[in-house]
Amino acid sequence: MKINVLTLFPDMFKPLETSLLGRALEDKKWDLNLVNFRDFTTDVHHHVDDTPYGGGAGMVLQIMPIKKALDSLENKGKVIITAPQGKTFDQAMAKRFSTEENLTFICGHYEGFDQRVYDLADEVVSIGDYVLTGGELPTMSMIDATVRLIPGILGNFASTEEESFADGLLEYPQYTRPAEFEGKKVPEVLMSGHHANIARWRLKEALKATLLHRPDLLENRAMTDEEKELLTEIKSELD
Ligand code: SAM
Repeated sequence: MKINVLTLFPDMFKPLETSLLGRALEDKKWDLNLVNFRDFTTDVHHHVDDTPYGGGAGMVLQIMPIKKALDSLENKGKVIITAPQGKTFDQAMAKRFSTEENLTFICGHYEGFDQRVYDLADEVVSIGDYVLTGGELPTMSMIDATVRLIPGILGNFASTEEESFADGLLEYPQYTRPAEFEGKKVPEVLMSGHHANIARWRLKEALKATLLHRPDLLENRAMTDEEKELLTEIKSELD
């Protein structure tokens, strides 16, 4: 996958060069093309923004440098604008993005974009109901969540199938050595070696965590008989 990013601050993307994604980048398992759309301005001061028509605070990003930067790309693929009013990014969106050959993110700044910039995009995406200074951090979050789902990027791909949201539930609790710390013991079942019991315990704990922390995720879930049974058990234990 090749990801293009249109940004005024390409240096902000250094964190993607570290850890697992950084190694995968070095191994050419994915590619990152940072494009500073200020380079596509034609005026002597390289302005990318201007005052809003109708007045008001702040500066608005102009369409021309962004359009020219987009047109310079060999393969844009799906074009995504980062904006607080967009559809909220989630794991399902990351999964969908991870199947694309090319993606292009456009990072806003200042007061955001001239409205006509939105016509250049396939999707408008937000990372949550809060306002950041620019689209760089949202883009990095989306790139991280997307690229790690590409088969072969993470050492142990199975881990992305069992983690939170992968099948609509939060993840079950995980433990590692020591078996006891300051009186807090690892649940016996995890040390039993009994795979079926471990799987049932994990499913129950995932359901419990979801019920307690994100009950909205259970609302439209098509439950299996085992899940229904476990949920009844959990509710009676909690009562
Ligand atoms: N005036 C805009 C508004 O009220 O919606 C906010 C502009 S914000 C200061 C500047 C840029 O940061 C936006 O154009 C967008 O690219 C990015 N941004 C800020 N918050 C975001 C969020 N929650 N999700 C995605 N992008 C965001």
